[in-house]
Amino acid sequence: MKPITVLLVEDDAEQARQFHNLFQKVRGVHFDVRTVATFADGLGQLKQASVDAVLLDVRLPDSDGETTFERLHRHDPELPIVVIVEPGDTMLGIRAVEDGAHGYLVKGRINTSQLSRAVRFAMKNARLQNAEWDSPMFHLAQQQFMKAAQLMGLDENIRERLLWPQRTLVVTLPFRRDEYNEVETVFGYRVQHVLTMGPTKGGIRYHEDVDLGETSALAMWMTWKCSLMNLPFGGAKGGVAIDPTSLTRAELQRLTRRYTMEIIDMIGPDRDIPAPDMGTNEQVMAWIMDTYSQQMGHAVPEVVTGKPVVLGGSLGRKEATGRGVVYVIQHACEHLKIDPRKSTAVVQGFGNVASNAAKFLDEMGVKVLGISDVSTGIRNEKGIDIAAAQAWVDQHKTLAGFPGGEPISNSELLQLPCDILVPAALQNQITQENAGKLQCKIIAEGANGPTTLEADEILNDRGIFVIPDILANAGGVTVSYFEWVQDTQNFSWTLDEINSRLLKIMTDSFMRTLKRSVEQKLDMRTAALIEGIQRVTEAKLLRGLFP
Ligand code: NAD
Repeated sequence: MKPITVLLVEDDAEQARQFHNLFQKVRGVHFDVRTVATFADGLGQLKQASVDAVLLDVRLPDSDGETTFERLHRHDPELPIVVIVEPGDTMLGIRAVEDGAHGYLVKGRINTSQLSRAVRFAMKNARLQNAEWDSPMFHLAQQQFMKAAQLMGLDENIRERLLWPQRTLVVTLPFRRDEYNEVETVFGYRVQHVLTMGPTKGGIRYHEDVDLGETSALAMWMTWKCSLMNLPFGGAKGGVAIDPTSLTRAELQRLTRRYTMEIIDMIGPDRDIPAPDMGTNEQVMAWIMDTYSQQMGHAVPEVVTGKPVVLGGSLGRKEATGRGVVYVIQHACEHLKIDPRKSTAVVQGFGNVASNAAKFLDEMGVKVLGISDVSTGIRNEKGIDIAAAQAWVDQHKTLAGFPGGEPISNSELLQLPCDILVPAALQNQITQENAGKLQCKIIAEGANGPTTLEADEILNDRGIFVIPDILANAGGVTVSYFEWVQDTQNFSWTLDEINSRLLKIMTDSFMRTLKRSVEQKLDMRTAALIEGIQRVTEAKLLRGLFP
C-alpha cells in the first residue's frame, strides 16, 4: 500500500514527537509525516507538494486571531483536515467540524487506532464530498465510450442511457479488527451497468482507492467485454475501500461476510454474479458463496465464479485471464509477423493475471525480461525464472528481495526495451508522461484501464499495437461464464474442453476486432468498443422501452 502523506502543523515539539511515535506504531498503513511548527510554514509545504491529509493544531503562534482551521479551509476547501485541540478546547474542535473539518483529536487522549482512523476517514470523507463519481477512471471509461459512440454514430438516447450505470449501491459496513475493541466503518460498492443482456457479471475489488467512480468504470468495461465475447451478461463490479494486505485472515473473512450481507439483495445466480478482482481470490469467493448459501438455506455455488474447484469452481478459471492474455498475444504476433520464440516480454504486476501471463509467455518460449509487483520491479536480461519467482512470492508474499535479477522501479520497468509489454497490475500506468518512452511493439492490457486517453493517442501515433483491456483480459470472465454454465447444469467440463472453448472465443473476438480495425482504419481499442457497444445497442432496441 502506498504511504499516506500527512502534514502535521504543531508548534509543541513534545506533542509533535508523540504524534510521530503513534503514527509509527500503526499496523498495516505507512504514514509519511511532515512536521512544521507555524501556519505560514504549513501553507508553504502545501504549495510545494501535495499531501493526503493535514493534522492541524487549531491554535498556533501565527493564528492571527482566527482558528487555523478557518484559514486553511478557506485556502483549500477540499483538503482533508483533522484539527488538534487542547483538552479544555473541545468546543473549538466541535466548531471546526461544524465548519467543515473532518474530525478533531484531543491532545493526550489519542491512541494509534484513533489517529490512523481519523486521518483515513478524513481522506474518505473529503473524497465523498468532492463527488464519488468524480474519478479519473470513470472519466476515462466515459471518454472512451463517447469516442466510440461518436465514430459509430450511436443514437443520442442510447448514448445517454449507456453513459451511466443503471444501478449503484453504496454501503457502509462496520468492521472489527482482531485486536481492537473499536469498530471501524468502511465503504463498499456494487454497481450494475446494463441489465439488458441477462444477469450482470463482474469482479469484487478490495483496494484502498475503491470508490463509486472506479467501480462504475469497471462495471462499464465489463459490459463491453461481455458483449464483445458474446457472453449473455451485462457488466457489474463491486468493491470495498480497504487495503486487504493489512488484514489478517480472520479480518478478511469477517469483512467479506458482512459486505456480502450488505449487497445480498443485489446479487444472485440469475441477477448478478460476482468474481475475484484485485485484492480478492478463490477463498474470498468461497466465503461469499457460503454467506449467500446460509441465507438461502441451501448451497448456491452458482452465485459466484472463481471459487475453489471443490466448491463448484471451474478447472482453469484461476489462470484463465493470464492464459487469455497470451492467446491474444499469439494472434497479435502472427498478425505483426513476430516469432514469439525469438521475442521478449515485460510484465507489470505479479498477482493472478500477471504471474499467469508471465508463466504462459515463458512456456511459449518468450523471454520474460522484467516482472514487478507493489514492492519492486525485477529485471534480468537473460530471462527471469518465472517458477522461481512464483516460489519466492508464495513464500515471502512479494517480490522484494527475489535474487533472480536486479531490482528496478516500476516506472523503469515499463520503459525496458522489449517486444511485448503486459501491464497487468493496476490502472493509469501508461500516461502522457511515459507513452513516448515505451520501447515495445505490442501492449497487451492484462489490467483494466492501464492506459489513459492521451497516452492512447501517443501509442497509436507511434504505431504500437495495443490489445485493449476489454479484449486482452476477457479470458477471466469467459471461463467465469463456463463456470456458471457448469454450476447451473450440475455438470463439469475437462480442462482441455475449457481451454479449447476459451481459445475459440478469444480467437473469434480478436479476429472480429482486428477486421473492424483494419477495414475502418480504427485503433484496436475503438474497434473492440464498437463491437461491444453495437451488440448492447441492438439488444436494447429489440427489447424496447418499459413502460
Ligand atoms: P491481484 O491482486 O492478484 O494482483 C495485483 C498485482 O498488482 C499484485 O502483484 C500487486 O503487488 C501489484 N501491484 C499493486 N499495486 C502496484 C503498483 N503500484 N505497482 C506495481 N504493481 C502493483 O490482482 P489481479 O486479479 O491479478 O488483477 C490485476 C488487474 O487485472 C486489475 O486491473 C484487474 O481489474 C484486472 N483483471 C483481473 C481479472 C481476474 O480474473 N483476476 C480479470 C480481468 C482483469
